[in-house]
Amino acid sequence: MNEMEANQFREFGKAMIDYTAEYLENIRDRRVLPTVEPGYLRPLLPDQAPQLPEKWEDVLKDVEKIIMPGVTHWHSPRFHAYFPTANSYPAIVADILSGAIACIGFTWIASPACTELEVVMLDWLGKALGLPEVFLACSGGKAGGVIQGTASEATLVALLGAKSKAVAAYKTKHPELKEADIISKLVGYTSSQSHSSVERAGLLGGIKLRSLEPDSSNRLTGDIVERAIKEDIESGLIPFYCVATLGTTSSCTFDKLEEIGPVCNENDVWLHVDAAYAGSSFICPEFRYLMKGIERADSFNFNPHKWLLVNFDCSAMWLKDPTWLVNAFNVDPLYLKHDQQGSAPDYRHWQIPLGRRFRALKLWFVLRLYGIEHLQAHIRKHIALAHYFENLVRGDHRFEITEEVLMGLVCFRLRGSNDVSEALLKRINGRGVIHLVPSKIRDVYFLRLAICSRYTEERDIDVSWKEVKEAADEVLLAQK
Ligand SMILES: *Cc1c(COP(=O)(O)O)cnc(C)c1O
Repeated sequence: MNEMEANQFREFGKAMIDYTAEYLENIRDRRVLPTVEPGYLRPLLPDQAPQLPEKWEDVLKDVEKIIMPGVTHWHSPRFHAYFPTANSYPAIVADILSGAIACIGFTWIASPACTELEVVMLDWLGKALGLPEVFLACSGGKAGGVIQGTASEATLVALLGAKSKAVAAYKTKHPELKEADIISKLVGYTSSQSHSSVERAGLLGGIKLRSLEPDSSNRLTGDIVERAIKEDIESGLIPFYCVATLGTTSSCTFDKLEEIGPVCNENDVWLHVDAAYAGSSFICPEFRYLMKGIERADSFNFNPHKWLLVNFDCSAMWLKDPTWLVNAFNVDPLYLKHDQQGSAPDYRHWQIPLGRRFRALKLWFVLRLYGIEHLQAHIRKHIALAHYFENLVRGDHRFEITEEVLMGLVCFRLRGSNDVSEALLKRINGRGVIHLVPSKIRDVYFLRLAICSRYTEERDIDVSWKEVKEAADEVLLAQK
């Protein structure tokens, strides 16, 4: 057998590290969007896997030849689509170690360090964000944090916890009711501006989730939620769950958490806060006003894998009382039982899958190798760059800014009908130097420019603005 040996692994690994560093340091020079057509890849590959081992040198060569032409370069300073996804050397190195340990940390005994580091890291992170003690494991109560794969999972997990809590409470009050009858009466709330994964959580969780219209500034308010709850109680339904968003995906708008919290608390409605993107900014004290009222929430989630330099996947979630989840998801076959059950969280009960990677290593490495100060600087720099771009847009009377710029996202459009802005985006992406995606609120179409790369500097924003301006020249000229 000629399988890869340790010394080959060392060579290949070192070559890959060099390749990785070179790729990232020179990413600015690559075209952000690939020019390949659908189906480009198959003709470049053999019909089947090789019978005999190949040389790693050949594999590495093919990465540049076959893979890179079909890659969208998310970490290019020219990439402004969606929201950022994190990328840092400490996190990449931690993932190598996680790959070496390659444990499946579903119970404490399955790898004690995997569970225990996660508990402590979620406390570190919670403290760094200024989360109230009631969410932290170090508070000594039931509360604590967990790393989910994505924000979508966190929303679903919270919904399932809320569902089991509501069913249990209703059964106690009305022992004559069947569980299926109670479930059919459950109703949850969110805003039409919340992420599509929230609607999906309702579908997956098999309950009705109402998508409420936000106020004129696109924010979900306490009044709106209260009105919906009252209506539903009157028609015999059972309100049980509400998702508020801090930093919506379309326009980075913040729901009025301070108003929504008391309404949910008074009505025994589980409040989940989705701060997938903007949550990272709370590491800076000056942005914490945006999460005012967080102490009223039952669960809180944000993605360090978006904006806090921890590579995907790392979605941090805190729960005041995880017992509802543990009860909802608890199946205990003999092969998963162990003597220390109950003394540390068995994270398999806190999530949808059974298996889980050693993801806390990424957090540990990133927090230690950057330090909170550098993470704060990263956030502040991105927000400053967004304001820099905002000012360039404001200086050109042909454009308008459509949403207050609070974080690293600028929403803007050409004045006039949607058609011109649609044509503008088409032209920008067609030129291929920068990449943006659009959104639409109340039939107003706009472009979103997100600051994504950790390599972005003012000179990069100058390039992006030049692209936008020139594309606008072309579009407006063609219109005449
Ligand atoms: C990005 C985003 C999500 C989805 O995040 P995943 O981790 O990919 O599931 C959810 N909510 C908001 C507000 C987002 O911006």
